[in-house]
Amino acid sequence: MEILRYPNSVLKRPSAALLTVGNEAREMLEKMAETMYSNRGIGLAAPQIGINKQLIVVDIGDGRILRLINPLVLKKEGKEEMEEGCLSVPGIYISIKRPKKIKIKALNENGQEISLEAAGLLARAIMHEIDHLRGKLIMDHINPIKRLRILRKNGYGK
Ligand code: ZN
Repeated sequence: MEILRYPNSVLKRPSAALLTVGNEAREMLEKMAETMYSNRGIGLAAPQIGINKQLIVVDIGDGRILRLINPLVLKKEGKEEMEEGCLSVPGIYISIKRPKKIKIKALNENGQEISLEAAGLLARAIMHEIDHLRGKLIMDHINPIKRLRILRKNGYGK
């Protein structure tokens, strides 16, 4: 699948929660995983392939892939700043403060509710993908003037 890039409007729209988890959702998650791996990403959210549904996949390279549906953050702990990129905004890297540790709940690909604690890069990747489900991109974390400057410098917009 092709990855949508900024400023595609699908990326700015909030995504809808899934009411049921069936084969359709599982197929979407598989397509997303394939697309993430073929682009060497560590995470992907459904809106990045044009689907405004609450589905994310994350694999930070520790041999485990997370497929999460309707993810919800229950707890955040600490703060850590690190530079981030995004497959939908190639060339742009922004330093973003995110929680060091999180606790989330979600549905897995079988529709079962799971809860998960994550720290460090895994927590960051999950938070980044959850941002996508709310229509939020990395540059939405910085002020509009700085944002415009970074976007222009990298050939986005006029
Ligand atoms: Zn992204």
